[in-house]
Amino acid sequence: PPLAEMHPVKALFKIPRWRQLTQHWDFEARPSVTHLLEHPFIKQAHGKDVALSQQLATLIREQQNVGCKTKTKHERINTRKTLIIESCPDDDLVNLEFLDEETIISHLQKRYDELQVYTYVGDILIALNPFQNLSIYSPQFSKLYHGVKRADNPPHIFATADAAYQGMVTFCKDQCIIISGESGAGKTESAHLIVQHLTFLGKANNRTLREKILQVNPLVEAFGNACTAINDNSSRFGKYLEMKFTPTGAVMGAKISEYLLEKSRVIKQAAGEKNFHIFYYIYAGLYHEDKLKNYRLPDKTPPRYIDSQHCKVMQDIVSSKLYKEQFDAIQDCFRIIGFTEEEVNSVYRILSAILNTGNIEFTAITSQHQTDKSEVPNSEALENAASLLSIGSEELQEALTSHCVVTRGETIIRTNTVDKATDVRDAMSKALYGRLFSWIVNRINSLGKHDAAESGMNVGILDIFGFENFKKNSFEQLCINIANEQIQFYFNQHIFALEQMEYQSEGVDASLVEYEDNRPILDMFLQKPMGLLSLLDEESRFPQATDQTLVDKFEDNLRCKYFWIPKRVELCFGIQHYAGKVLYNVNGFLEKNRDTLPADIVVVLRTSENKLLQQLFSSPLTKTGGRCLACFCVQYVHFVNACVQVDTMEMMRHPEETTNMRRQTVASYFRYSLMDLLSKMVVGQPHFVRCIKPNDDRQALRFNKDRVMVQLRYTGILETVNIRRQGYSHRILFEDFVNRYYYLAFRAHQMPEISKENAVAILKQAKLEKWVLGKTKVFLKYYHVEQLNLLLREV
Ligand code: ATP
Ligand code: MG
Repeated sequence: PPLAEMHPVKALFKIPRWRQLTQHWDFEARPSVTHLLEHPFIKQAHGKDVALSQQLATLIREQQNVGCKTKTKHERINTRKTLIIESCPDDDLVNLEFLDEETIISHLQKRYDELQVYTYVGDILIALNPFQNLSIYSPQFSKLYHGVKRADNPPHIFATADAAYQGMVTFCKDQCIIISGESGAGKTESAHLIVQHLTFLGKANNRTLREKILQVNPLVEAFGNACTAINDNSSRFGKYLEMKFTPTGAVMGAKISEYLLEKSRVIKQAAGEKNFHIFYYIYAGLYHEDKLKNYRLPDKTPPRYIDSQHCKVMQDIVSSKLYKEQFDAIQDCFRIIGFTEEEVNSVYRILSAILNTGNIEFTAITSQHQTDKSEVPNSEALENAASLLSIGSEELQEALTSHCVVTRGETIIRTNTVDKATDVRDAMSKALYGRLFSWIVNRINSLGKHDAAESGMNVGILDIFGFENFKKNSFEQLCINIANEQIQFYFNQHIFALEQMEYQSEGVDASLVEYEDNRPILDMFLQKPMGLLSLLDEESRFPQATDQTLVDKFEDNLRCKYFWIPKRVELCFGIQHYAGKVLYNVNGFLEKNRDTLPADIVVVLRTSENKLLQQLFSSPLTKTGGRCLACFCVQYVHFVNACVQVDTMEMMRHPEETTNMRRQTVASYFRYSLMDLLSKMVVGQPHFVRCIKPNDDRQALRFNKDRVMVQLRYTGILETVNIRRQGYSHRILFEDFVNRYYYLAFRAHQMPEISKENAVAILKQAKLEKWVLGKTKVFLKYYHVEQLNLLLREV
């Protein structure tokens, strides 16, 4: 509707300072402008604030003008556009006249102070974490952001979801939304909001389906998220959620892929951190249902794995109302998604078995001949674990305290020292948890599977842990940071490199924009055979390797300005990441990379009578669900254009599929996961959401300029602003353009010839300005497309 007919509250939305007030108002009430003036809040402000009164007066005048004066549709639209742009020029940083760091920061700060947490940079969305609940995510807001022009409303995460959805429906192309930012910046919350809005857009009228989709995130996050020093609900795995739609845009289901679960958290947590949420949930839940005994969980002292300093007292866990509520919620998730009672029971048994396993202790047996033997002095935990896993306790004890070695065809049994037995125990817990997690994810996917789902289109949402830099960084941080390098690379490729390549190949002038290319760092990590991950793998194959030999190997082979060995710090190496310098401590790298689960343990676990457990250890879990990797390789190679000089085919092969029987390491699996992830991302049209953490204290309305500046710099926002300003985010082949928009300049029954001239005729008829023609495509700014679509609707 023209502004005059527009809902007054919506109209008020256009004035930045009013927006803050109006976003909390009830949209259904539909007051008129004159009524609004009676609103006590406005009355008060109206009287006191001259600027505000003037703005309001102008708005009303303009509303009237727009209604009567303008003659043609186009004029009306353009007037509206100007009005909108004028009333809130800082919604999009690309519109700013002066573009330096200081201006951008102060704009963001001003907006943040007004609770405008979202800002565009062209079609990229910056999301500042509000650290408080805003009332801008209700169903009314979903309606407000449904299928409208972007400039009609203030920036919003729903607008990004809407753009992806519209893109999918209009161009029949898969879309992907990539959410990035450091830990605690708001990625997971953003992902939830996107799913919420997509479920709304996809008209998931079927209540069961809607509920099912909305339960997926909470369930997976109960198992994959944990309280860390930075974020109480930190994702400890990467998640790619694909929402599936029919060709007409009705939602059909969701599929989830998980990456790099931080399994080591199961056995040990850093000071001030906790284990995965689910352990506390089941403890509190089972306690209240008086079922701890059924799962052989102690009710006096909490198991060692969850006994961090936070909850030394059992009471803390069991009396937490939140944990109990979460447990109930998780039970609901399982039920709604469709897990059977037997399955859920098996999941709880395995979780309880893990907790009991952690309580198994070992002591050394010292006899005359042997000093390297261990035994389990108190068999209660051992028996509990064995019983929960439905295996024999003696067999389990045997597998923990000894191992078989085959030499020259003979099998010899060797005993384990206390340290070794402890390692085996922890390796078993990690493997149980890791495989259980993957099983849950696969099960969710198979339960949500829709026959038609394969033929539909999808919007993928990537929520992956942000860049990490702690006082002490280990193998986990290295993996996380490499994943972030890869995403940054994808971002750069998309925004900068591809943009310029296309300009050049189309003969369109584009002054080159400088950007920080992180490809050399990625090469250093991923290259074969001399990249850091390959070197790590090689060293992991030597049983005699030590932390020192690993550091030496890195030092001898990695000649690159992004890598260095600090002089005075022992067993460390430093990396200059795109987001800053990080020192990694190599202590435990080799073991973490080998991630060995002794064959003896696998053999015992396979004897289990528990069906789920048999499944977990019978065959390697397939992660890819049948995606054709070879097909992808072609796309990938095309896309990256030999950017990472490694053997792509080799990298894309699932490590468990490799023909040589080399043991699979975490690094090789990681490399595979990264490629698998990229494969999903590159097939879709990307949309980027950059989450920014305004302060480290998790406080609302506190804007720390320095912290924001750092994040803006390393996320490439500054360069993005530049290129977006000059950039043409839509390039449409003449053919597609004429076919789609010819109604605007020709009669419906005319089928104009596909030609550059006819494309120009349409553009002129639509009275658009500042478009550019390439050799085969029309280059348009994002608002051109919005205007065209609007005109199309009015024809
Ligand atoms: P990690 O990398 O550790 O997983 P993250 O980027 O996923 O971090 P979130 O868990 O999404 O971070 O957000 C951290 C916290 O910030 C949330 O628990 C919530 O309290 C707050 N938060 C984030 N986004 C919003 C929002 N849109 N509205 C209100 N609060 C938010
Ligand atoms: Mg998260």
